[in-house]
Amino acid sequence: MSKKITLLGSTGSIGTQSLDVIRAQGYEVFGLSAHSHVDKILEQIEEFHPKYVCMTNPDAAAKLDAALAGRANAPKLLTGPEGLKELAAMDGPDVVLNSVVGIAGLGASLTAIESGHDLALANKESLVTGGSLVTDAVRENNVKLLPVDSEHSAIFQCLAGEPYSKVERILLTASGGPFRHSTPEELRGVTPEQALRHPRWDMGAKITIDSATMMNKGFEVIEARWLFDVKPEQIEVVVHPESIVHSAVQFEDGAVKAQLGVPDMRVPIQYAFTYPARIPLQSERLDFFTLGTLHFERPDVERFPCLAIAYEALHRGGNMPCVVNAANEVLNLAFRQGRVGFCDISTTIRKVMEQAPFELHPTLDDYFAIDREVRCLTETYL
Ligand code: NDP
Ligand code: MG
Repeated sequence: MSKKITLLGSTGSIGTQSLDVIRAQGYEVFGLSAHSHVDKILEQIEEFHPKYVCMTNPDAAAKLDAALAGRANAPKLLTGPEGLKELAAMDGPDVVLNSVVGIAGLGASLTAIESGHDLALANKESLVTGGSLVTDAVRENNVKLLPVDSEHSAIFQCLAGEPYSKVERILLTASGGPFRHSTPEELRGVTPEQALRHPRWDMGAKITIDSATMMNKGFEVIEARWLFDVKPEQIEVVVHPESIVHSAVQFEDGAVKAQLGVPDMRVPIQYAFTYPARIPLQSERLDFFTLGTLHFERPDVERFPCLAIAYEALHRGGNMPCVVNAANEVLNLAFRQGRVGFCDISTTIRKVMEQAPFELHPTLDDYFAIDREVRCLTETYL
């Protein structure tokens, strides 16, 4: 069956892999968005002929506007964060996929949901920062929230046909990142180049650093809490370096269901588009005989404190996960720019958590306000 899709963050790692699925299935593109990559989005416009395009960065938007001038069948151009929300709200697509990076995706997620769209969500920061607002909006508007993150898609697939109330435990797998065996001493000396080399997945820069600190896994714990309505104690992180078991669910009778496969983001992306149906995908098949042995171990929260920080933020609730996210966005970028060391990321987030004002029931405006405040506060430590 043909689908019409709006793809937010189309120039990124998830965005381009989503376009691979769209191309292979012959789906139609209704809208695309990017932030700064004008040449990349121009190529996508030529190939996919969207009706609307949003460029969130104003300088890039001006360049794109000039490049599109006089073209026949040029898409209508929207700009800035308001334009992104306008695009997310527009009638036309069967599903909106949000693969923007960071809290910049939160407004668009909520607008898509409030406009009655099913939302395929890669932008985990939407759930990390505004999890209760997003899941309340999903219930109120009776739309589907379809996980794209590979672990959450795995859990979602394990839960097909199962009542969520029968879940005892979620086993969230983690590759452990490039520094699984590094000593505390070695971790202190980690360079951005080393951290940007992930052993299993080829992803955008921000999530690759989050994977190296294991903040990504911490965020995925928070994401799972909201997606599957479980308590933090019910989510257990299992380090599994081969990344073949994408996650598992243990039910109240002790039965465990897991989803396995060769790592390939197109599988969860396509499942989010076609759910509850499955359709063929040309991808590498898992061969148990060449696979041999799989390994599982406990995460080390002493060496990777970001995982403990995320659990703590989830327990404290309210705006605390949003505080952690904002500090992490600033420190993640500062680390890539060589302005802070690898271990400063977790130690600074802890300091910021102690100083940021706590709010138990924030509104959307409160979340954006605390995000701005924490960014300034974090900068004072750099
Ligand atoms: P990338 O950095 O590769 O892509 C991010 C996309 O968002 C780009 O299209 C970028 O535009 C756009 N963007 C950047 N800043 C803004 C902004 N301020 N406002 C609006 N759009 C913006 O990231 P990934 O594709 O790796 O990740 C996207 C999301 O998916 C993240 O939340 C990540 O955690 C999640 N995810 C990613 C996985 C992966 O394998 N990559 C796996 C699971 C989840 P431009 O290119 O023009 O700058
Ligand atoms: Mg993941």
